[in-house]
Amino acid sequence: MAEAIDQLKSAFRGELIQPTDGTYDAARKVYNAMIDKRPKLIARCLDVADVMAAVRYGRENGMLTAIRGGGHNGGGLGICDGGLVIDLSRMKSVRVDPAARTARVGAGCVWGDVDHATYPFGMAVPSGFISTTGVAGLTLGGGIGYLTRRYGLTIDNLLSVDMILADGRFVIANAQENADLFWAVRGGGGNFGVVTSFEFRVHPVSTVQFGPTLWPLEQAAEVLKFYRKFIVTAPEEVDGFFAFMVIPPAPMFPEHLHKKAVCGIVWCGTGTAAETEKATSPMRSVGKPLLDAIGPAPLPAVQSLFDGLYPPGLQWYWRADYFTELSDAAVAKHVEHGSKLPTMWSTMHLYPVNGAAQRVGKSDTAYSFREAVFAEVIVGVDPDPANASKITEWCKGYYDALHPYSSGGAYVNFMMDEGQERVQASFRDNYARLATIKKKYDPTNFFRVNQNIKPAT
Ligand SMILES: Cc1cc2nc3c(=O)[nH]c(=O)nc-3n(C[C@H](O)[C@H](O)[C@H](O)COP(=O)(O)OP(=O)(O)OC[C@H]3O[C@@H](n4cnc5c(N)ncnc54)[C@H](O)[C@@H]3O)c2cc1C
Repeated sequence: MAEAIDQLKSAFRGELIQPTDGTYDAARKVYNAMIDKRPKLIARCLDVADVMAAVRYGRENGMLTAIRGGGHNGGGLGICDGGLVIDLSRMKSVRVDPAARTARVGAGCVWGDVDHATYPFGMAVPSGFISTTGVAGLTLGGGIGYLTRRYGLTIDNLLSVDMILADGRFVIANAQENADLFWAVRGGGGNFGVVTSFEFRVHPVSTVQFGPTLWPLEQAAEVLKFYRKFIVTAPEEVDGFFAFMVIPPAPMFPEHLHKKAVCGIVWCGTGTAAETEKATSPMRSVGKPLLDAIGPAPLPAVQSLFDGLYPPGLQWYWRADYFTELSDAAVAKHVEHGSKLPTMWSTMHLYPVNGAAQRVGKSDTAYSFREAVFAEVIVGVDPDPANASKITEWCKGYYDALHPYSSGGAYVNFMMDEGQERVQASFRDNYARLATIKKKYDPTNFFRVNQNIKPAT
């Protein structure tokens, strides 16, 4: 082993971190503090050659190998016990081409890095709702965010990737080259190789109309029943996710609302202030809101607004499902469980995944649930490990109550490590094609620390 590591060292420019190193404990930490895994070696790559060397080393030494981008995965799929972690966090670079309206992004970037680089050009890549999530993991699973209704999922704006395959080869995958692989990485996760950089289409978005409308819990059923109709007909310039949440004690909220459990919609409009006002007013006129505060804000500020509330190191327990519709019975279950948030950080979000995202067919990319209107995510969250079982039980109970009303699968990036059946249910008809592509590019299932697609037999 020591000899093999010495050999790797000679071909490696980044850092090789082992359990005896002082930096090991910090290096093995991931975002979700419920995950506590101890790899044998963390290969913190600096460039593509390092990734090639690390893949070769992992393969030749028969090591379980995980790929780490932003380290945000709920189930801790960016790290493993006893194996090798190919850590890309140092591979940060963003090059914007304003004339071509593209951005080339290194696989170690988080979305805040991308927003920082694109904003001065008045451009944005459709991403998520928080700036600290890794570009790599979020993109490879699909990518749901504030710009989904207007510009589609993140994968709908992916033009090309550079990758290292399980046999150590470098390939480019896009519409022209290795088109089968390009299809698979748009939703199929880290199953097919290590992506070292992404090329995205950028859109002219810089200032958005942002803010929440919040209602008391007693009005939640009325709000949800209006929202389920509103969001399927609202102009695509308007995005707004529904949430059960506890108002944090932050200066941006009036003090009398601090720590109050409410329901609400968090708006992000890409039209003008007047257009957003007009488009959202039917929804904002429902019942009697406690707070209604939409105003202009720079997109990078919006994307990083929740960063302070959700720093790394909290306990997280996740459950998710897609919904094509929300029946009255499902609304009643939401109100019942959403009204019992166990801690201030715990929440349930219903993200709209319609609009532009639905103009892509369900077999056009590996991401299958194109007819779904909502991606639901239930997260039990708390800083105190002593509350781990409390947040887990609440989350599971909520999920169990809603799952019978769901479309049957979930957004893979909002799942924990939940087993094969759940993975297959989430890819549906696309699973067989993914398994065939997996067999072609990773026949031994070398890359299996992920929502795993088994090579076709
Ligand atoms: C606080 C929070 C907010 C979130 N918000 C959103 C959101 O708004 N929208 C959304 O769509 N999702 C969101 N997610 C979910 C997120 O997309 C997933 O957790 C995703 O896996 C994170 O990617 P990462 O690179 O940070 O994760 P990591 O833990 O580093 O990796 C996750 C998975 O991606 C694979 N992977 C990582 N890098 C590569 C690579 N370079 N090549 C190949 N495979 C790779 C790994 O194999 C692993 O299976 C959020 C998660 C958290 C914790």
